[in-house]
Amino acid sequence: MTRSSGAGGRGGRGGQGEHGVGADLPGGGPEGALSHALGAVGSQLDHCVHCGFCLPACPTYIRLGDEADSPRGRLHLMGAVSEGRLDPGSPAFQLHLDRCLGCRACETVCPSGVEYGYLLERARAVAREARPADRGTRLLLGLVERPIPFRIWMALSRILRRTRLPRLLARHLPSQGLAGQARFGMAMLAASEPVFPNGLEEAPALGGESVGTASPDAPPGKGTRVGVLMGCVQDGLFHRVNQATIRVLEANGFQVVQVPGQGCCGALHAHAGALDGAREMARRNIAAFEAAGVDEVAVNAAGCGAAMKEYGDLLADDAQWKDRARVLGARVLDISQVLAGNGRTPRSGAPVEGRVAYDPPCHLLHAQRVVTPPLRVLNAIPGLEVTEVRDGAECCGGAGIYGLTHPELGGSIGRDKAEAVRETGAPLVTTGNPGCAMQIGAMLRLDGKGVDGVPGVCHPIELLDESYRRAGFYGLRGRIGTKGGRS
Ligand code: SF4
Ligand code: SF4
Repeated sequence: MTRSSGAGGRGGRGGQGEHGVGADLPGGGPEGALSHALGAVGSQLDHCVHCGFCLPACPTYIRLGDEADSPRGRLHLMGAVSEGRLDPGSPAFQLHLDRCLGCRACETVCPSGVEYGYLLERARAVAREARPADRGTRLLLGLVERPIPFRIWMALSRILRRTRLPRLLARHLPSQGLAGQARFGMAMLAASEPVFPNGLEEAPALGGESVGTASPDAPPGKGTRVGVLMGCVQDGLFHRVNQATIRVLEANGFQVVQVPGQGCCGALHAHAGALDGAREMARRNIAAFEAAGVDEVAVNAAGCGAAMKEYGDLLADDAQWKDRARVLGARVLDISQVLAGNGRTPRSGAPVEGRVAYDPPCHLLHAQRVVTPPLRVLNAIPGLEVTEVRDGAECCGGAGIYGLTHPELGGSIGRDKAEAVRETGAPLVTTGNPGCAMQIGAMLRLDGKGVDGVPGVCHPIELLDESYRRAGFYGLRGRIGTKGGRS
């Protein structure tokens, strides 16, 4: 992916937006310095031909009907700031950028190849420089940056989750105001519980017996050295998915190597416009995966995979790191690509009989353009009937902490997703991103239809892992019961 730089002369940008976007600002001054950062990618903004094809794909435009809450409108605001016509601290710039989910559905449908996600991150950096993020966001980003306090937070969350109190609070707390936000947070935590703490075999929804014989398929890995990104929230609340990922890779003939020194991928920081923090995390991961000598980096969280693939862009202005960042970024693959991309086919295991609804994470579908590999992974499981969720290309409303920071809009988008999941009638929904799993799981609990019969949420790799366990690929260590342990 090549990006051009240089402000370049732009003119004739169509339409004067609302909120005084067209009002000229005096040159120089602090807003001029701030707009320089956007001006550096100004020629990227010029790729937009204002056709409006992206409008019907945008969840915020669909619901709010305001041009300024569409991709085209936001690009127009960015253009106004880059040209010094709009103050980056203005309510219009702050509000409409803040309301963007960063789902990048607009990129998929754009005929001009506007790299909206790249522009959004830079625009948010400008917005944050003009007006700092709220305290909650700063606290969260600060926690993610500090490994020890973060681990303590995750450990406390797991303890709370084990008490089952989050389920109760999600059901009984008021839905408005601060209590409403706490209720949503509790619903997200409850949604991170293992759906099958004692193995899928015991789940009434999914049948099939343990076969106990290894498949004769030739493993496709052929000894390729793979490092697995453990992540922050993924390892804190979905450790079981990381463990399943390692088992599945080894069962497919990959050599999984330890990667000491790795940490958070930096996606949360980048999406919030905290690019310096994101760069610091990227450098740490590049050094760690380089030192481990991996051929491929397997990522089982779509948001993290998208961020790591774009390390080259993030560090493009860092002479010392830019080449290393591009090399590492090119080695990053979603776990479904490792197993079922590049002409590979995962081994098939024993039957797991039942129905599952698949919902693709935006950062897999739109940011990474990975469409079929997750379905190929699921289709490698004998007996499993896979149904795609209606309007699967639309965001679930999770978008990092969007559900917490934008309870109304995120809630409306999330309720629609929950409805589409319920329509499938499947007892399980599967998606490859922890944020989406928690958002969908939370919305299924909070959509007013009650928690009885709420579809469970799991990662596709957990299903393949269970299929392998039943096939006897893991021998005695394959029992995945996690009662009382970290899950
Ligand atoms: S689809 Fe692309 S070119 Fe058309 S308005 Fe949207 S961003 Fe601009
Ligand atoms: S990233 Fe998503 S929410 Fe933001 S403008 Fe694009 S489609 Fe709309």
